[in-house]
Amino acid sequence: MLEKEIAGFGASGRNGGWCSALFPRSTASLAKAHGRDAALAMRRAMIATVDEVGAVTAANGIDCDFVKGGTIAFARTAVQARAADADVAEAALFGVDPLERREASVFDPNCARVHPAKLVRGLARVVEGLGATVYEQTEVTGWSAGTVTTARGTVSAGEIVIALEGYGATVAQTHRRVLPLYSLMIATEPLPDSTWDEIGIEHGQTFTDYRHLLIYGQRTADNRFAFGGRGARYHWGSVIRPGFDRDPRVFGHLRSALARVFPQVADARITHRWGGPLGVPRDWHAGVVRDAGTRISTAGGYVGDGLSTTNLAGRTLADLILGHDTELTRLPWVGHHSPDWEVEPLRFVGANLGMLAMDAADVEESVTSRPSIAAKLMGPLVGH
Ligand SMILES: Cc1cc2nc3c(=O)[nH]c(=O)nc-3n(C[C@H](O)[C@H](O)[C@H](O)COP(=O)(O)OP(=O)(O)OC[C@H]3O[C@@H](n4cnc5c(N)ncnc54)[C@H](O)[C@@H]3O)c2cc1C
Repeated sequence: MLEKEIAGFGASGRNGGWCSALFPRSTASLAKAHGRDAALAMRRAMIATVDEVGAVTAANGIDCDFVKGGTIAFARTAVQARAADADVAEAALFGVDPLERREASVFDPNCARVHPAKLVRGLARVVEGLGATVYEQTEVTGWSAGTVTTARGTVSAGEIVIALEGYGATVAQTHRRVLPLYSLMIATEPLPDSTWDEIGIEHGQTFTDYRHLLIYGQRTADNRFAFGGRGARYHWGSVIRPGFDRDPRVFGHLRSALARVFPQVADARITHRWGGPLGVPRDWHAGVVRDAGTRISTAGGYVGDGLSTTNLAGRTLADLILGHDTELTRLPWVGHHSPDWEVEPLRFVGANLGMLAMDAADVEESVTSRPSIAAKLMGPLVGH
């Protein structure tokens, strides 16, 4: 394995720790694109993957705070309540996701809370134990059939797997395949059990709500809020820089969003702030592809759902490379090619307008108390 920085440097080491059954495209849109049976197979594979990650971590002694406590999606306004109803109705239509409508929320049991950095470092140790070598500080600059070029020399390989996700945008060969979208997070000081009891979030639970500009969080094993959200702007030319991980405006927005959702923690100290780029394909459709001719495979485009989906991609690639025809190799994301993103300045304008539109949609709904027209127009562009 060739890694530019250290194993876990990317999104895998710094995400929100939702090991969920979520896929970036909704079940309805998968059914439209691939047919109902294929969409259901994809949903079932995602649901099984949550338990698979739990089983792998348990079998290999990876202590990563894995607890399958489910996700609570709060519906905090009348408009959000309607979105929650629609979510539950769509799940019932397909009959695979056991969503449960509660008084002011929707509960999805198929999500585990993990500590992402502990998971990815633990996996790296396991892989090394199996005989693989992780070459850190080794930047890949290009590839062709049988050969990978790095800043430190050339590597021959019978099979090549490209798994760069958001960082694909920084390599010429995959520059327009993916758009690096920044997600930022904050963590509070540890909070007393009594505060958590009042809030109603148990150990192992993750949470979100039904706004358009995504927020997400978890109760960490040591009783902190780890809380994140989108809204950081896209940078011209898909540039990725360490400085972009820290945007005071977005951290401030996260702080006030957390206080609005949970007034009980309005005064809690924020002890950590971080962020990183995830990878968005043009059609928001993750994919696993192997070219039998060149023996080059790619996996990615998970948007914000890669923690578990990378596991499914890895198992699927193993079957594809070994030439096994299995349930996994017949899933509808196998062989899916997303179109390239537009060239600049269109990409810059489109991505940042999209972000502004989602933010405006939330304001629009809070003012009009009606589902946002802007969000409805954006829906097909963001996987709904
Ligand atoms: C803040 C944040 C919160 C998120 N929350 C969640 C969540 O709660 N649940 C969820 O499912 N998903 C979440 N995601 C998305 C998820 O983390 C990613 O989809 C997933 O980790 C992608 O894994 P990956 O291995 O494909 O890519 P990455 O983990 O990004 O790994 C790519 C690796 O490639 C390396 N690299 C870059 N350039 C080169 C090069 N030229 N040569 C060699 N190596 C290179 C990088 O250093 C990096 O280590 C979140 C993402 C972020 C940023």
